[in-house]
Amino acid sequence: MNHLHNIPNYTGGKFIAPNSGQYLENFEPATGQIYSYIPDSDENDVNQAVLAAQKAFPMWSSMSNEDRSAWMIKIADKIEERLEEFAAAESKDNGKPITLAASMDIPRAISNFKFFAHALTQFSSESHYMQGVGVNYTLRQPLGVVGCISPWNLPLYLLTWKIAPALAAGNTVVCKPSEVTPYTAYLLSEICQEIGLPEGVLNFVHGLGPKVGEAMCVHSDIVAISFTGGTATGKRIASVAAPMFKKLSLELGGKNPNIIFSDCNYDEMISSTVRSSFSNQGQICLCGSRIFVERSIYKKFKTDFVEKVSKLHVGDPKDEKTKTGAVVSEAHMNKVLSYIELAKSEGGQILSGGHRVLLAGRCANGWFISPTVIEGLSFDCRTNQEEIFGPVVTITPFDTEEEVLMFANSTQYGLSATIWTENLSRAHRMAEKLHSGIVWINCWLVRDLRTPFGGVKASGVGREGGMEALHFFTEAKNVCIKY
Ligand code: NDP
Repeated sequence: MNHLHNIPNYTGGKFIAPNSGQYLENFEPATGQIYSYIPDSDENDVNQAVLAAQKAFPMWSSMSNEDRSAWMIKIADKIEERLEEFAAAESKDNGKPITLAASMDIPRAISNFKFFAHALTQFSSESHYMQGVGVNYTLRQPLGVVGCISPWNLPLYLLTWKIAPALAAGNTVVCKPSEVTPYTAYLLSEICQEIGLPEGVLNFVHGLGPKVGEAMCVHSDIVAISFTGGTATGKRIASVAAPMFKKLSLELGGKNPNIIFSDCNYDEMISSTVRSSFSNQGQICLCGSRIFVERSIYKKFKTDFVEKVSKLHVGDPKDEKTKTGAVVSEAHMNKVLSYIELAKSEGGQILSGGHRVLLAGRCANGWFISPTVIEGLSFDCRTNQEEIFGPVVTITPFDTEEEVLMFANSTQYGLSATIWTENLSRAHRMAEKLHSGIVWINCWLVRDLRTPFGGVKASGVGREGGMEALHFFTEAKNVCIKY
């Protein structure tokens, strides 16, 4: 094994090998080749990381806001200095186009640290005056050692979306990046060491969910878990952590509707819809995988959309022309392909894509799927109800607002929804009635980090973003003073 490619854990400010001495293979999706090894950690590694984080907590939580903020800015600046290296690593590890990693993933990771570094200096708590009696004030205190568990689709982006508010609020952190995409988390741990972040403040334990993630969830000294990932995993985590009365934030799966009315700004809608369908190979929890189109423009939409989709260049993620890279793993590719077969068996017609793409040269063994558009399915079939999480969308005509609301709200999920219409009253009416945590009107993935982020129903519990995240990572204590 090449030592340079053995990713270590980072605990108590030190790079260390896993206690088991065992490693897992880490693949480059574009080539299907192993290119590094990651620790196959277990509960012993988690225990060690928790001890380091506990030791660091009194110092970190009592540090002035200005000083904590300065540490976080230092981290952000260092990522920014190494943006190209981080983007190349994210693209290699995940299969996403390098241009996407450089324009979205890594800049957002930088913004996450900067945003919460600034937010913490503006954080304040409430006071409730009782006329003639006294006054209450709310203390918002850090929780202690918290656990952050993140998925593979936006590896550094989502990991830092948790770490940054947790640290800002004065907690110390044990995190577990996805086993499938550990590399940029490792680069982040390099930065922590390089800048001399006090040891134990931020600890990285790499490895498998059922081993490392589970050990974090059952650890009695990890008092909160912030998790983003699949609904089934979220359910498992809740069943373990809830009886221990841990604070839980669960950001889970989605099956988001994209609702297109005939009065929309057509050109803007169609280019956004290509993005909201296939960005990151459709592996964004916010992608609109169910496209509902008002019947009067359905035929035109179908022709124009399929034409645009068929031009999306599937290729080597390293190539700057590539719009669609590899999906994250062989297992995931097979899962997505099996859903395409399911769609066919349910009566769906493939209008574009529908198959694996075999590229030549370096990527000959890579895991690529051509962007797929399917029509002719009922709103309640499995293809339209279950999360596929790949470059696959369905298109379905609708006649009335009532009908499309019923279609949109028919799944167990409720993460996000998009509406395209120039009719303001209709937009508000629909936004109110959609069962989802986020509604975009005439846009997609426009993000203001101050806003509440999260889903309803099987898409999760709790909200991230802005003050919501700082509230999650602190405990409110009311102090009542009688005159
Ligand atoms: P998973 O649920 O499989 O994994 C997420 C993380 O949890 C990984 O780090 C995983 O480790 C870990 N994990 C797995 N089992 C356990 C366990 N028993 N206890 C603790 N941790 C565990 O999700 P994916 O990585 O496959 O990500 C895709 C999913 O994430 C999709 O459903 C998508 O919708 C959702 N998602 C939701 C978002 C939101 O904001 N709502 C945003 C982005 C994605 P390991 O890697 O070893 O399996």
